[in-house]
Amino acid sequence: MATKLLLTFAICRLIVTVGLTLEPTELLRLGLTVDPVDVVSASVDFGLMTKVEPLAVLRPSSAKEVAQLVKAAYESSHGFTVSARGHGHSINGQAQTGTGVVVQMSGVGSGGKPRVWGGDMYVDVWGGELWIDVLKSCLAYGLAPKSWTDYLYLSVGGTLSNAGISGQAFHHGPQISNVHELDVVTGKGELMTCSKEQNPELFHAVLGGLGQFGIITRARISLEPAPQRVRWIRVLYSNFSAFTKDQEYLISLHGNQKFDYVEGFVIVDEGLINNWRSSFFSPRNPVKISSLGSNNNGGVLYCLEITKNYHESTVETIDQEIEALLKKLNFIPTSVFTTDLPYVDFLDRVHKAELKLRSKGMWEVPHPWLNLFVPKSKIADFDRGVFKGILGNKTSGPILIYPMNKNKWNDKSSVVTPDEDVFYLVAFLRSALDNGEETQSLEYLTNQNRRILKFCDEDGLKVKQYLPHYKTQSEWKEHYGSKWDRFQRMKMKFDPRHILASGQNIFTPTFLSSSNMMVMDTPIPIKQKAREAIDF
Ligand code: FAD
Repeated sequence: MATKLLLTFAICRLIVTVGLTLEPTELLRLGLTVDPVDVVSASVDFGLMTKVEPLAVLRPSSAKEVAQLVKAAYESSHGFTVSARGHGHSINGQAQTGTGVVVQMSGVGSGGKPRVWGGDMYVDVWGGELWIDVLKSCLAYGLAPKSWTDYLYLSVGGTLSNAGISGQAFHHGPQISNVHELDVVTGKGELMTCSKEQNPELFHAVLGGLGQFGIITRARISLEPAPQRVRWIRVLYSNFSAFTKDQEYLISLHGNQKFDYVEGFVIVDEGLINNWRSSFFSPRNPVKISSLGSNNNGGVLYCLEITKNYHESTVETIDQEIEALLKKLNFIPTSVFTTDLPYVDFLDRVHKAELKLRSKGMWEVPHPWLNLFVPKSKIADFDRGVFKGILGNKTSGPILIYPMNKNKWNDKSSVVTPDEDVFYLVAFLRSALDNGEETQSLEYLTNQNRRILKFCDEDGLKVKQYLPHYKTQSEWKEHYGSKWDRFQRMKMKFDPRHILASGQNIFTPTFLSSSNMMVMDTPIPIKQKAREAIDF
């Protein structure tokens, strides 16, 4: 009875708020749930910095259901928004909406199981499938996708809406460069299949398109034979230019004589190195951090992280191959940390860290992350100004840094990257803690992000944000630069009422135009919301 009342109340709210002309029975027919658990979970994300409650949540079991909902939104006389939500691992409310329905793409009962086509070397997956499940399905056939993210509990649709990058991107390109075909529900509620050959405009727009042009319900992803094991190596540098020179050399290699994964990170305090030292301790090379020369370098060290995949049948040659590659590098000789593990354990490595953090209550905390693409020609300026300057020997989470080759990115996709052949990802993966230490607080870290962006702007570093977050359309225009006109044209073509993914704050839904001033998608900062609740 209580649930029924709640349902009726929420549907009435949906109708009243957005002026829907649909009957409650029609909404029920669309399969919408207003289960408070669904609504609450769809109102927050991994960033835990904003909270926006949707009016209802759809848990679709097919693309047809997604299409029905979007069509209803498109055709309704007043309109309501529809936001796909994968696993909700955005930082700034990108999958949230307060003026309509969240489509919960990941989770029990949605879509179908991945279908592996071994002969053709691809897999068809539901848009809400998590990468960890894609991996498991493919491994049963001895196959695996080629390009990854560091963390696998992200949805296929979510990462393809951004790019999907990790240490394999220098060679295979981002995940969006490894997709053959998509099924997409456009903002008009049409279910369309697209690829480079069929509806190419939609295909390219959707890849890296921040959910603006359609909801991905199926992706056909390219596969390769899965390696069995991984040799995982970390080496340290105190000299930034030696570090970047080696990273750039490694990503220029092709063929078999190369590493399979190239990443790196910055160590601005000793806490971090001690964190991973236990799992990487090499008895042959015991290391004293103080002996590594970071003191002569503003206390900053750089860690190159590389892997070589192999099959048990080639185990005899792997040592020699790695030895030959390492010989060409200029790291601190006593700083080689090596470990060896099954391929799946390497790909799923961040999940282990997640479980540890969860057990300490440190996973569900605000995450003021900042991800930047920095052109190669400016990375030394970035080091001087940020790693050795603004950060001031304090971190609040890993800082990743690794280069990629622009020629592995398709310029026709919607993503924007710097205008140079090589650019770096620099990722500040921060966790804010409420432990009384000022440098760990959300406010401090958010301000530091602002200072970093201001520095990049004032010093003309020409960086581009990855997983971008802006509040005004003029900032988005600047972000997209020469791609803006096409981006806007594609929006007009595939989502003319601007109902999709409004949490990105790029386009205002047309039903919220000045004649109908119901701006309700503005996120409420979580702290403010908490205070309101207490005051009430
Ligand atoms: P959500 O947060 O649910 O959605 C993100 C955006 O995509 C929203 O605008 C949403 O509307 C849209 N969207 C979601 N599903 C669909 C769909 N089916 N069709 C169309 N649009 C859709 N990124 C990397 O590239 N490399 C990494 O190594 C990496 N590591 C990460 C590690 C962690 C711990 C976290 C939290 C994030 C990481 N990310 C990484 C970022 C991640 O790729 C993005 O945040 C991504 O959007 C998360 O996927 P999601 O399924 O949670 O998407």
